[in-house]
Amino acid sequence: MIHGTQEVQIGVAIGKMKVLCDYCGSLIDEDDIDCNYCGAKNNGYKKNNTPKTIEELKSWYNSLNLPSTEITRIFIDEDYKKPKAFGIYKDNNRYIVYMNNLEGKRIIRYDGADESYAVNELYLKIKEILSKVKR
Ligand SMILES: [Zn+2]
Repeated sequence: MIHGTQEVQIGVAIGKMKVLCDYCGSLIDEDDIDCNYCGAKNNGYKKNNTPKTIEELKSWYNSLNLPSTEITRIFIDEDYKKPKAFGIYKDNNRYIVYMNNLEGKRIIRYDGADESYAVNELYLKIKEILSKVKR
C-alpha cells in the first residue's frame, strides 16, 4: 500500500498542472501555449511531458518514486514472465505491451511498430493504477 507523502507526490505527478493567465486571470493548463479564454501567451507554459519512448516512460516512472516493481507490478523495458504484471518491451522493431493475469496468462495489449502508441498504452494504464491507489 502507498500512504502519506507518497500519495501526495503521486497526485502531483499525474495531475495536470494549472496556471493563471497573466492577462485575464483564467485558470488554464500549463501545457496550453495560449490562454483558451483571451488568447494571450501563457507565460507559465510548460511543454507537455507525456512520454513518447520507452526511455522517457522509464524516466517519468522513476520520477514518481514509487515502491519497487515487486509492489507496483509494472515492468518497463522488461519481458517479465510471472503472474500479475504490466509491462512493455522492445523486440526487434516491435513494441509489445503486455499484461500477465493472476494465472500467469499473457494478454497482449499492443504489438506493433508504433513506439509512442505502445508507450501511451502503458502510460495510461500506470495512471489508472495510480489513481486507484490514491483513493
Ligand atoms: Zn487569458
